[in-house]
Amino acid sequence: MPLQTTTSTWYSEEHGLYTESVRKFFGDELAPNIERWSDAGIVDRDFWVKAGAAGILGAAIEEAYGGAGAGISFDAITIYEQARCSDSGWGFGIQSIVIHYIRAYGTEDQKARWLPRLATGEMVAALAMTEPDCGSDVQSVRTSATKDANEYFINGSKTFITNGQTANLICLAAKTDKDAGASGVSLIMVETDGLEGFRRGQNLNKLGLKAQDTTELFFEDVRIPQDNLLGIQEGQGFYQLMNQLPWERLLIGITALGAIDFALEETIRYVRERKAFGTRVMDFQNTRFKLAEMKTKAEVTRSFLNDGIAKLDAGTLDAATASMAKWWGSQTQCEIMDECVQLHGGYGYMMEYPITRLYADARVQKIYGGTNEIMKELIARSLDVE
Ligand SMILES: Cc1cc2nc3c(=O)[nH]c(=O)nc-3n(C[C@H](O)[C@H](O)[C@H](O)COP(=O)(O)OP(=O)(O)OC[C@H]3O[C@@H](n4cnc5c(N)ncnc54)[C@H](O)[C@@H]3O)c2cc1C
Repeated sequence: MPLQTTTSTWYSEEHGLYTESVRKFFGDELAPNIERWSDAGIVDRDFWVKAGAAGILGAAIEEAYGGAGAGISFDAITIYEQARCSDSGWGFGIQSIVIHYIRAYGTEDQKARWLPRLATGEMVAALAMTEPDCGSDVQSVRTSATKDANEYFINGSKTFITNGQTANLICLAAKTDKDAGASGVSLIMVETDGLEGFRRGQNLNKLGLKAQDTTELFFEDVRIPQDNLLGIQEGQGFYQLMNQLPWERLLIGITALGAIDFALEETIRYVRERKAFGTRVMDFQNTRFKLAEMKTKAEVTRSFLNDGIAKLDAGTLDAATASMAKWWGSQTQCEIMDECVQLHGGYGYMMEYPITRLYADARVQKIYGGTNEIMKELIARSLDVE
């Protein structure tokens, strides 16, 4: 299945050509490595450079900054195709989110400094908001950025950071005014190569997403030039994060759909081959009804997400709709993975079957990018207006 539907207004011939080339690139360079990367706990660094050379990292970056200037819907295709070939390790989603932060808020100098290197894969990005004592409540971050002459002194720690071992450009949420709540949060871009006082923790041992390097980060009197503040005004970080969250949340829904499409294909293949009581598992009415339900949920999700992509492209995707895409997509993904494991019987519990890895990978989708409880809060808030 492709991401788009026959009525997708955002989808053009260029999107079709791009889909073909990304699918081929992932088939050649990503799919054969998934198992090895899962064992290593990290994606090969040079895969980022290959993806840059293939035009994937820079698809949405303007030509003036080394990209193709094709727009954010091309990143949506990349996200879908990655999940569609069952990979959960490569942290492109975060790279894309940071790229769009810089596009939206960066000064000319900042765009020229970072976007070309993000497009080639010379730079890998991380987004560091979560701290050991603060996840959902972003405005309570404690990492501090204290101004001194032309520099910020950064102190604090972050946890659960995707691309944490690989990233050399970190978009860091820190307090430039510790007494100011949300308006004390700023985003500071940290270039980590050779940076004194910056340290990475161990690669964290997770239930799923085994190939993704998720890490604690430590900052001890780290000095960052003041012009690495994203944008020109301190205290805008919380609002910058909130304004960009629709893409982060839609992206999680798109990842869910890619994984669902892969899981359904795998499961249909399995139940057509597996026999019990002298017949194919596919021939039991329960199997057929379960597959029919799952396929219906996948198509409902596809339609909703396509509406979301069209709105995102037009700049009209609102926070509540993006939150619906995130909670619905991830919830549906978890339900479908559970059913697919069930239809595999005992083999669905064995790691050599892809469905087992997909089941484990799905669970975190309800947690990161804002938990599904926070999504429902945001949706409910949009209903509670005069
Ligand atoms: C694999 C992985 C990758 C991640 N990648 C990143 C990353 O790249 N960058 C980054 O900054 N973070 C990242 N995170 C962190 C993730 O975004 C947080 O774990 C998430 O936001 C939840 O925060 P928390 O873990 O502190 O949970 P808490 O905020 O402590 O929540 C605990 C429970 O309380 C509930 N809860 C909290 N507040 C409310 C409320 N107001 N109403 C109802 N229920 C509530 C939550 O829904 C949850 O069920 C990642 C996490 C994981 C597991």
